[in-house]
Amino acid sequence: MRNLALAEPHHHAGRSIACMEASLNPALAEARFCPRCGQPAEIDFPQRIVCPHCGYAAYYNPKPVAGAIPIDDRGRVILLRRGFDPGRGLWTFPGGFVDLGESVEDAARREADEELGITIEVQELVGVYSRAEDRVVLVVYRARASGTPHTTPEAPEVRAFGVDELPWDELAFWSTERALRDAFPG
Ligand SMILES: [Zn+2]
Repeated sequence: MRNLALAEPHHHAGRSIACMEASLNPALAEARFCPRCGQPAEIDFPQRIVCPHCGYAAYYNPKPVAGAIPIDDRGRVILLRRGFDPGRGLWTFPGGFVDLGESVEDAARREADEELGITIEVQELVGVYSRAEDRVVLVVYRARASGTPHTTPEAPEVRAFGVDELPWDELAFWSTERALRDAFPG
């Protein structure tokens, strides 16, 4: 299981541009040399690394994250309190990075199983959530949940909320709130 950053938990207006840009691509932040031939490479942070010696090039893009809003047979929304930063202690729905070798829907199903131990049936798309300052693109589906959710290190508390009692003031990410509002308008 991985600790996943869906997005920055809070947006600080005063945060420096350098800090914001570094968080966009930690994998490239310390890179200096070509991973293929070991010669000094040209770094165009945060987007690419190109090697003038051997021709190696790698391009970085925002990473897709799959999320699902699980709804149980009583119409309640199953949320988890996050066990890790970012957003530790705050509520969100299960989600995580899409691995190579799986579809976005596959990742949503896997994360619901890993984080809550539930089986979900992925339903319609709720929305796609993206900002230029984030390094992820969150794709959120509505889902039908079956099975009894249980806690895990990633989800030390799990609760089924009525749609009229969602914890709006304690949500982990801007995208959590947007997706829940899109899923339950009005
Ligand atoms: Zn090279």
